Amino acid sequence: MRIVQKYGGTSVGNPDRIRKTADIVETSLKAGDEITVVVSAMSGETNRLISMAHEMDQAACPRELDALVATGEQVTAALLSIELQRRGIRAYSFNGAQAGFITSGNHSRARICNIESHRLIRHLEKGEVPVVAGFQGVDEDGNITTLGRGGSDTSAVALAIALKADRCDIYTDVDGVYTTDPRIVPDASKIDRISYEEMLEFASLGAKVLQTRSVELAMRFNMPIHLRSSFESVDGTFVVKEDETMERAAITGVTYNRDEAKVTIQGIPDHPGIAANVFGPVADAGINVDVIVQNVSEQGHTDITFTVPRADYASTMALLKESCERMQARNVLGDNTVAKVSIIGVGMRSHAGVAKDMFTVLAKENINIQMITTSEIKVTVVIDEGSVDQAIRSLHATFGLSQSAS
Ligand code: ADP
Ligand code: ASP
Ligand code: MG
Repeated sequence: MRIVQKYGGTSVGNPDRIRKTADIVETSLKAGDEITVVVSAMSGETNRLISMAHEMDQAACPRELDALVATGEQVTAALLSIELQRRGIRAYSFNGAQAGFITSGNHSRARICNIESHRLIRHLEKGEVPVVAGFQGVDEDGNITTLGRGGSDTSAVALAIALKADRCDIYTDVDGVYTTDPRIVPDASKIDRISYEEMLEFASLGAKVLQTRSVELAMRFNMPIHLRSSFESVDGTFVVKEDETMERAAITGVTYNRDEAKVTIQGIPDHPGIAANVFGPVADAGINVDVIVQNVSEQGHTDITFTVPRADYASTMALLKESCERMQARNVLGDNTVAKVSIIGVGMRSHAGVAKDMFTVLAKENINIQMITTSEIKVTVVIDEGSVDQAIRSLHATFGLSQSAS
């Protein structure tokens, strides 16, 4: 089988871990598989590089930041190739440009436009092992770009698609996708198979075990992902197309995201175009708005509340204060200590009353729900950040997701 194997930061975190990773590659080759490797930087390295740049200049130029952080993955690609060659395996490292990753020019959040894979394919056809630095590419002018934090997952899935691989194996420090973050609920259960759709909700609603864009790509091209541990040789979680044999418990998992802030613009004169007036400047500033609630209007005035990533809180407040004056609204309020908690599951389509059950659990815990949003397969609430752990634990237990419940 042709397989792309991606190793995350902890799997290449030091020379000893790199040797363990080489063991897995060697075993796979011996089993007759054709392997292309994608690596992350050593764990902590990307953060270390970013803080060094900021020590030089808080407003470091995005082009140079990308040139700097891309080196993290190049180091591990070369070290792993050295170790594989020492074992007599013809493995060669490639940075993003050498591997043919052509991206847009948005530094630190570039999108892959195309992978010119002929060079890697030539190596594969000679029985060699390409070891590719993840997280990076070049734009059409040759500038080094990176794909956003956690972007090596997306490099790996995109490469698997370009190479027409049979599967993309993502090796990490947990042995699968769990019903919730095992750091908060040690009793969380491993999910054996999860649909792309659910995994997409897991990733985008806070389970940072896979970068959201990697799941989007896998879903679009039907690329199976096997998320598994590089520390022990056991089956992990298969992320695949939804099928009839998948269990339909009411919910599959619980996620959270603390990286949230909430803003409210009060007393806006209610007439057509107000939403466009509020959200236009926010969108123009490249800020991603998430949960939105508009109140019924009272005496010709209404309120709009929405959430943004916490890092964009200050700039959103500044923009809204400007809009507030322009639109003759009464006031702008903000809170950057909120978080999002979500329950996710395709089973919701066939189980009634799941949202009600969630609200009942939170009420019993005396947790105030500030905002609610739903889709066919998820319910998300915005609550105070301080209540996240309590909410996760009680939801996880009530919906029967613990190991002890199965
Ligand atoms: P890597 O460096 O290998 O890419 P990450 O740190 O990006 O690894 O992702 C793995 C981590 O994701 C785990 O250590 C775990 O703490 C965290 N995580 C959060 N939510 C979940 C979940 N639902 N299932 C499994 N892991 C999760
Ligand atoms: N090294 C990058 C990061 O820390 C990319 C990755 O690990 O996927 O975000
Ligand atoms: Mg990761």
